[in-house]
Amino acid sequence: MITAAMLYDYVSCEHRPWMDLYADDSERDDVSPFLELLWRRQRAHEEDAIANEEALRLDEVDDGMRVAKTLEAMQAGVPLIFHGRIVAGDLAGEPDLLKLKDGKYIPGDIKAGAGEEGDGEDAKPKKRYAVQLALYVDVLERLGFSNGKRRAFVWDVNDEEVSYDLTEAKGKRTPESLWDDYEEALREVREIVAGTRNPGPAYQGECKHCVWYGACMRRLEELDDLTLLPGFGRARRGGLSVHVASIGEFAVTDPGTLIDEKGKSLVKGIGPEWVHRFRERAVLKHTKGNPYLREALYLPEAQTELFFDIETDPGRNLCYLHGFVERRDGKERYEGFFTTAATHKAERESFALAVDFVRSKHPFVMYIYSKYERTWWRSLQERYPEVCTRAEIDALFEDSRTVDLLAVVQASTEWPTNDHTIKTLARYLGFEWRDVHPSGFASIEWYDRHISKGDTEAKARILEYNEDDCVATRALLDGIRSLRLREG
Ligand code: SF4
Repeated sequence: MITAAMLYDYVSCEHRPWMDLYADDSERDDVSPFLELLWRRQRAHEEDAIANEEALRLDEVDDGMRVAKTLEAMQAGVPLIFHGRIVAGDLAGEPDLLKLKDGKYIPGDIKAGAGEEGDGEDAKPKKRYAVQLALYVDVLERLGFSNGKRRAFVWDVNDEEVSYDLTEAKGKRTPESLWDDYEEALREVREIVAGTRNPGPAYQGECKHCVWYGACMRRLEELDDLTLLPGFGRARRGGLSVHVASIGEFAVTDPGTLIDEKGKSLVKGIGPEWVHRFRERAVLKHTKGNPYLREALYLPEAQTELFFDIETDPGRNLCYLHGFVERRDGKERYEGFFTTAATHKAERESFALAVDFVRSKHPFVMYIYSKYERTWWRSLQERYPEVCTRAEIDALFEDSRTVDLLAVVQASTEWPTNDHTIKTLARYLGFEWRDVHPSGFASIEWYDRHISKGDTEAKARILEYNEDDCVATRALLDGIRSLRLREG
């Protein structure tokens, strides 16, 4: 059967359904405590959402009976069905909700996340939610319980009902709809299920949190796969693999052969400048060369340097730690402002203390890795305007005062690594985190344990991890400063 969960996974990674169906289970990594936390949160959110609704609950009905019970309930016109199971042909779906409207059913899911991605006018439906909802609509159409309008909904983490119009064009210049995405994903997953298609692994951000990480990485290394070049990805591999199959092959290819006489790239999805740049990355990786500067680099200097990193829990929409390492006169000291409860009052307090700390350090240069800290401080300023003004936040994150080292890495350096994350680059430079499993996701699970069970060890672990993230940023800055300009 093709399930909605398979389509969701396919949208996140085309290879995931193949691994779930055909890979040897012994190669599966352990499920991380963070993933378990997400599952617990999802279940708790569903319970909260349905608690005050008059719904027919089918979640405790035996799996073997659930299809028949759902059909029976729809035939009887039950207004709201929770956790039914619907099946037609090779499609099977378990919509969290089936809502009766004008004698027909509209499916919906309950999600412990935002119903859309992006904010305000830029907000748009999430494709991975849409393909699941579309499968439910498809099954209802085949069973004769759909009103034919191809609409569905999500009850999201903010207790809002977000409507999904699956047939609407995505934009003025994009006539395709989410239904088209669904049909494409369904066609491809059908081929995977039939065993006629194996998309193959491709290294991407999601991999590090996937249960198949170990297995896929072994395969990618064996293949010397092109997606092990920083920033490359599956789509670019599709374009380049027509010409070369591996990093080694790319490294010994004259990039001029991939560009025509008019200077146009022959590689689908990669412009001429990037053909050269990725080829340089391939050479560096293949020859295990040293990282280098692509261009002369100016980094501001100051007697006081701050290395800043925050910890946040998007599920709670909460910033729970602002951490700084201050370096002055060759000495380093860590300061962390911890949100002692998962409340707005506590979040406001830690934010205000962190802002006061920064104010007390002028003049300084601050280093961050990505725009994440700026984005969060802007939204905290909107949430707590009495703490500081927007102008103060904007001035703090001006280029002359705050340097985003990720932007520096991407624009001006090359590394013989798989990616440009701070973990990868700082480790390449010899820095090691004290924790055995350091990650932002793990830190969210530790915070949850600290808040729900008063686990003080978990709090200590968060502070240590955050301090190490700040020190890693410092190690990276020093590493970048020591890089040589590339030859030629
Ligand atoms: S490890 Fe990466 S490539 Fe492999 S299934 Fe998971 S997300 Fe896909």
